[in-house]
Amino acid sequence: MDFDLSEEHQILKESVRRFALQEIEPRSPGMDRDEAFDGYLWEKGRELGFVGMGIGPEYGGSFSDHLSLGIMAEEVSRVDAGVAVVFGAHSVLCGNNIERNGTEEQKRKYLPLLASGARCGCMGITEPEAGSDALSIRTRARRKAEGYVLNGSKMFISNAPIADTALIYATTDPALGQGGLCAFIVEKDFPGYHRGKSLSKLGLRSSPTGEIILDDCVVPEENLLGGVEGTGLSIMFSGLDVERILWSCQAVGIAGAAFDAALKYAKERKQFSKPLITFQMIQDKLANMLVEIEAARLMAYKGLACLDQGKKRQTRMIAAQVKLYACEMVNRATSEALQIHGGYGYMKEFPLERYLRDARAYAIGAGTSEIQKLIIGGYLMA
Ligand SMILES: Cc1cc2nc3c(=O)[nH]c(=O)nc-3n(C[C@H](O)[C@H](O)[C@H](O)COP(=O)(O)OP(=O)(O)OC[C@H]3O[C@@H](n4cnc5c(N)ncnc54)[C@H](O)[C@@H]3O)c2cc1C
Repeated sequence: MDFDLSEEHQILKESVRRFALQEIEPRSPGMDRDEAFDGYLWEKGRELGFVGMGIGPEYGGSFSDHLSLGIMAEEVSRVDAGVAVVFGAHSVLCGNNIERNGTEEQKRKYLPLLASGARCGCMGITEPEAGSDALSIRTRARRKAEGYVLNGSKMFISNAPIADTALIYATTDPALGQGGLCAFIVEKDFPGYHRGKSLSKLGLRSSPTGEIILDDCVVPEENLLGGVEGTGLSIMFSGLDVERILWSCQAVGIAGAAFDAALKYAKERKQFSKPLITFQMIQDKLANMLVEIEAARLMAYKGLACLDQGKKRQTRMIAAQVKLYACEMVNRATSEALQIHGGYGYMKEFPLERYLRDARAYAIGAGTSEIQKLIIGGYLMA
């Protein structure tokens, strides 16, 4: 066990940090205000190979290992977590899922386009009536002569307003339960595919979120992911493991940025003729933040290592644990960091209020904290 990053990972960390500070940071307040992702960042991400990080080099991407994806997620989120969500939904939720589960033909057709960023991807499980109970999705796929005909709608989908390629979960027959679940690669130009309305959010406002409407959407038979009906459940669950660990790395990134800001402020701001950091109640907050951030990062790294080592059972358990811990932790950390800033923290002039708004999404997206507790409870009962 070695807790130091390798030279390669350290170089990656520094180059992502540079990209985030030079390119993302100046655009972040505008994206937050206008609730829009700046297309310049997509082009820059393409140029630097960051948009294809979830996809292997044999398909034109720059995937090396899951730890690299975690480092990228944390470093981008230190500056603007919404941008990390855009890249993650594209290259991991869509691209990486296709690479892990697609047929060779599907991979050759779609991955180079996604890896280069010529196309943007998204992934849709959630529906207006099916959130935590993801297995109750109603989007229906009926097999007909022209292919599969999909009907239904997807809700809260990251990148839906800008995506060209969507990984869509549907059921061929609700009576089959889990056995009817399938995943399809759906292009935005397929007849019957509609980008629904964009949704306005509390935080993560640089990440476009929206609905997808499938109205007699005709999907060619060869776009059934993996080519076998009824395999949607394992595709969905393995994808969620990756998503939860990387979502946790994003939470660590936001919490780290909030901690750094709070520490700096506590050293500079004086009250009662002394810097805030000399007050033990302020030290208490900073100490708790530091320890919790470190604990969450270590758990996330364990999850990333389990992914890299192909340890499926351990991955599922640690994914639920870190998702629960890191995504609750980021809410505590950003709240305490804002508290240390006093009134200034509540003002838009400082990024603290954005960190707090961004953090709030983390205990909800990728499966709520309550659902992670149910997963952990299920393991304990087994
Ligand atoms: C910013 C953001 C981005 C997202 N991006 C995507 C995306 O790209 N693709 C996608 O498919 N989805 C996405 N989602 C959707 C997300 O996965 C769902 O919001 C989440 O799974 C919760 O579902 P829900 O919102 O329908 O809440 P519900 O399932 O209705 O839950 C409401 C509340 O009830 C609780 N609850 C539900 N069941 C139980 C239970 N059995 N025991 C105890 N408590 C329970 C929940 O924990 C929650 O507190 C995104 C969400 C957000 C906020």
